[in-house]
Amino acid sequence: MTRKPLTYSGVPLDRAAELRADADRIARLLKSATARFVPVWTQRHLIAGTTPDQTRAVTLEYSESVLEAAAVSPVFLGFDGDTPWFALGLKDSETPPQIGPGEFRILNEVVSLLPAREAATLAYARAMVIWHANHMHCGRCGSPAASTEGGHSRTCTNSACGHRSFPRTDPAVITLIEDQAGERALMGRQAKWVNGMYSTIAGFVEPGESLEESVMRETYEETGVRVADVRYLASQPWPFPASIMLGFRAKAVTTEINLVDDELEDCQWFTREDLRAFGKPGTPHADKRLPNPFSISRFLVDTWLAEKP
Ligand SMILES: [Zn+2]
Repeated sequence: MTRKPLTYSGVPLDRAAELRADADRIARLLKSATARFVPVWTQRHLIAGTTPDQTRAVTLEYSESVLEAAAVSPVFLGFDGDTPWFALGLKDSETPPQIGPGEFRILNEVVSLLPAREAATLAYARAMVIWHANHMHCGRCGSPAASTEGGHSRTCTNSACGHRSFPRTDPAVITLIEDQAGERALMGRQAKWVNGMYSTIAGFVEPGESLEESVMRETYEETGVRVADVRYLASQPWPFPASIMLGFRAKAVTTEINLVDDELEDCQWFTREDLRAFGKPGTPHADKRLPNPFSISRFLVDTWLAEKP
């Protein structure tokens, strides 16, 4: 089965990682007439237009004032053809910087309006800018750290230390758990989510465990259900702020629900018929909704729904 890449994957750039160590080349690309900059301000992107056929991410051309607005050196993202792309982390300010047309918006709130290629590039830029903002100092000795390798590492400026760190992506597992017959799926919701939304079961991988062990532990902690037969399905970059979601299917060994760690406010078993009725007036599930269409959780649910009528 072929399918289109999950939202936020499929960045349409050649990352050209072999160039990152060539500081002179990167500096020339930065000031070239074709260079494009993706501005990121307080984790928001500059977006113009309000309807799907008009909405576009705004990118900037090189100018001295663009560089002066940056909080950290622009990060080399790669090439689109001959065009070099950079992420531009802007300085914090009370009001949005007047740097181009449009409005600064949170990516997850505008993603459904954007072309998939733009959404993926913005997610990549966002992840890099957030990493720099959170790693201004060396984690080993506390001295200032400098952006190196085109922004793909930071190096401690204390020559006695010299510690280098690299952009982090925190692995999180997310799992559609079905009962032994494959007729019901386990879905939960957190109190802070939008009203009525239920999702598959997710949590962060801890040091010292395999992904499969993480699925088993997280599911038990959140729902009290024991699972086995954990199978990997797909993954999705999730830079909110720094994760990659690893999608699984697993089989329940027990079915009794017990909200062990109180992370979920509710958790239930749903049949396919139940899930298809989510949001449908006149059904017991009219007040519920499926995960957002661009999320891997929705992909896991849709894949499961498609397996049986
Ligand atoms: Zn250091």
